[in-house]
Amino acid sequence: MFFEKIAPYTYRIPRQGKMRVDAVFFASKEILKDLEAENYASLQQLMNVATLPGIVEPALAMPDIHWGYGFPIGGVAAFDPEEGGVVSPGGVGFDINCGVRLLASHLTLEDLLPRQKELADALYRLVPSGVGSERRDVRFSKRELKEILKEGAGWLVKRGYGYPEDVRFIESQGRLPWANPDKVSERAFERGAPQIGTLGSGNHFLEVQYVDEVYDEEAALAFGLFKGQVTVLIHTGSRGLGHQVCQDYVERFLKVAPRYGIELVDKQLAAAPIKSPEGQDYLQAMAAAANFAFANRQLIAHFVREAFEKVGFTPRDHGLRVLYDLAHNNAKFEEHRGRRVLVHRKGATRAFGPGHPEVPEEYRRVGQPVLVPGDMGRYSYVLAGTEKAMEVSFGSSCHGAGRKMSRHQAKKVARERNLVKELAERGILVRAATRATVDEEMPEAYKDVSLVVEAVEGAGIGKKVARLRPLIVVKG
Ligand code: 5GP
Ligand code: MN
Ligand code: MN
Repeated sequence: MFFEKIAPYTYRIPRQGKMRVDAVFFASKEILKDLEAENYASLQQLMNVATLPGIVEPALAMPDIHWGYGFPIGGVAAFDPEEGGVVSPGGVGFDINCGVRLLASHLTLEDLLPRQKELADALYRLVPSGVGSERRDVRFSKRELKEILKEGAGWLVKRGYGYPEDVRFIESQGRLPWANPDKVSERAFERGAPQIGTLGSGNHFLEVQYVDEVYDEEAALAFGLFKGQVTVLIHTGSRGLGHQVCQDYVERFLKVAPRYGIELVDKQLAAAPIKSPEGQDYLQAMAAAANFAFANRQLIAHFVREAFEKVGFTPRDHGLRVLYDLAHNNAKFEEHRGRRVLVHRKGATRAFGPGHPEVPEEYRRVGQPVLVPGDMGRYSYVLAGTEKAMEVSFGSSCHGAGRKMSRHQAKKVARERNLVKELAERGILVRAATRATVDEEMPEAYKDVSLVVEAVEGAGIGKKVARLRPLIVVKG
């Protein structure tokens, strides 16, 4: 694999073979070693992405890059609709609009510790988790679901699930307006309907944390973060509904791609022109699934607040407000370098810099909050978007640590150990549907997220603001 260093923590794979543009990725020395250890399989996927029609230079990967379906996870690719640019469900991912929402409280670590166990149990009870988890207490009719698919998080807020100011702190205000529920299959509705307000399996989680380090006082002040503060991070997406939308359209795109003269070096890159009827249908269905994901995180946030209240913190005590809700699996039209392009982010986040009108007013001076979960044993980070990200990565940054071990490997390593006990001894209470989930999700199964953040900062596509340590983890 040939690549050259073009800037700190930044590497270029020059255009070759069927690539239409160069590929660029961000990495540290350690990350380069990891890439070599997997025989550059995920970089090969990045090179495949660069072969798609209408791609705008360059095809990109964030430092948490790893192998994914078609596109690598950590991949960012922008397409120009005026130049035959395509949309690809594999570039968005199966969990459409998967993302994280950070709630910031008024509470400190000292306030929380006496009720930690009680709170862990309340959260586990109020937020269903696990494969195929469903909610029995809140159900919506098909007609209501269609409205949710059109209106996103705001629909729930109007019905009392959340505070009116919540939506202002969600990316795109919790609603992609071009959503059309009529482009979503019956099967997708069936799968998703009972799952709203649930976490789902495996990698998805709900974590109570505290701020243990502040790196940038000015940005922390703008975001309302302080040392010792209790926060809650919610990670989930569009559940079975989004998954089914992805599946439906991958099948459809595979059939139509040849008709549009799109040559696929990998079938998993199935794509259709943005301007084609099929491309338009997918974009409308994807937006509907995205709105479902925003609503899902909204409903979970409501029950998180309720759990805090169940253990005796009044709304005034806990003050849980949405700091930000940030997606890491979607495709959106944005202006970059004077062009309107469709930016696919798959396991990558938006990271708009200071002054961008889409950043909430309170944060605009310092840039958008970028939420970077790590793992359930170490830490997660809050970063801020930068001007540089706007220049070099279509305003994008990393979305996590990225897996290091396969689920199978992790289970093998964890078999000899009792992770729940180990973590409890370190003050981290884990509640999970099965032992298998905890084993597969063990901290060592992920890269050390501080290495990823080092590369992000080194490349200038994000700026460290604060670090969060886990106290309670509810896992799929
Ligand atoms: P993904 O969306 O790719 O499944 O996951 C995003 C990131 O979440 C992963 O790359 C990993 O770094 C992080 N992550 C997975 N499980 C946990 C957890 O239990 N707690 C925290 N803080 N992060 C996690
Ligand atoms: Mn997900
Ligand atoms: Mn995710």
